Amino acid sequence: MKKHIAVMAGDGIGPEIVGQALRVLDAAARKFNHEFSTEHVLIGGIAIDETGSPLPEATVEACRKADAVLLGAVGGPKWDTIAPEIRPEKGLLGIRKALGLFANLRPARLFPELSGACLLRKDIVDKGLDVMVVRELTGGIYFGKPAGVEVRGGKRTGFNTMIYDEDEIRRIAHIAFKAAMKRRKKVCSVDKANVLDVSRLWREVVIEVSKEYPEVSLSHMYVDNAAMQLVRDPSQFDVIVTSNLFGDILSDEAAVITGSIGMLASASLGSEYAGLYEPIHGSAPDIAGQNKANPLATILSVSMMLLHEFDLEKEALCIENAVRKTLQDGFRTGDIMEEGKTLCNTIEITDKVIERL
Ligand code: ATP
Ligand code: MG
Repeated sequence: MKKHIAVMAGDGIGPEIVGQALRVLDAAARKFNHEFSTEHVLIGGIAIDETGSPLPEATVEACRKADAVLLGAVGGPKWDTIAPEIRPEKGLLGIRKALGLFANLRPARLFPELSGACLLRKDIVDKGLDVMVVRELTGGIYFGKPAGVEVRGGKRTGFNTMIYDEDEIRRIAHIAFKAAMKRRKKVCSVDKANVLDVSRLWREVVIEVSKEYPEVSLSHMYVDNAAMQLVRDPSQFDVIVTSNLFGDILSDEAAVITGSIGMLASASLGSEYAGLYEPIHGSAPDIAGQNKANPLATILSVSMMLLHEFDLEKEALCIENAVRKTLQDGFRTGDIMEEGKTLCNTIEITDKVIERL
């Protein structure tokens, strides 16, 4: 198979972890006789430094032409003081919009080898932790208009608008039900329907869509309760579907209870262009450039890419198993280090994964 991948390494640890993930992709390509070409393009802070924009037009074009997009992370303290319209994070929001990526799939799964790092009590962990948060990505309060800061009645006043139309809700609901069909056939829709009008519509439309998936059981939960239930007993969840803002928070929460955000991958899917694959963690400026970052989330993102974008099930599983074997054999980066295990840097742990492919 021949595929072309647009690569946006971005800022902070981005270039280190993406570089290592591409080594794994290369090794998998050799093993299974595929040809993956890559094209590096700019996004985020480095794009601001080199072009003045966090999302140069050339980047959008390259991503629209590619068969898949791999992203590291964007942002860092260097760009914290520049104008809000051209912050690195705007590059990320912009590319999601430009590619029409309306669904963000974030599996929060605990590798049994890392259960010691899990923040939950052992009896809770033993019941299982394998939740998929499906987050709406191009609507809601992050994009709603009007938004801004202005003087009202002599006071500086900030405001944003949480807005969804029924089509936006319907398509994200379909993604969630389809994901559930391949899993444990349970969807929990999370909203704040007791307070927010937009949530009332959300709930209505999700119920309509659920009629098309009679095998999947649907439940509803308010976001504050969902945040609590996630730590109290995550085994009750299979797929959680929710809006942009709630999904941002819940997927970070689901991630952190697994014990390491350096382990979790994500996929962002649209309908017109290729999907975008990235680790869920940020640019980790505190450890950037030190060859310390955990590349496994990015390596697992490559595995998700092979599965969801190219339908290469065997290859995807091979990478996943190599990661699992690496953990089983006791190799760890600093963020997931435990007593009695072998501490590896970014490059070393990638070597271990490649040896086990
Ligand atoms: P962003 O806003 O870009 O998501 P953030 O402020 O939420 O960034 P991260 O950049 O994800 O945060 O980092 C949070 C903490 O987790 C930092 O201490 C960072 O060093 C650590 N961290 C994040 N990713 C990794 C990784 N791959 N390996 C090791 N540590 C990591
Ligand atoms: Mg973050």
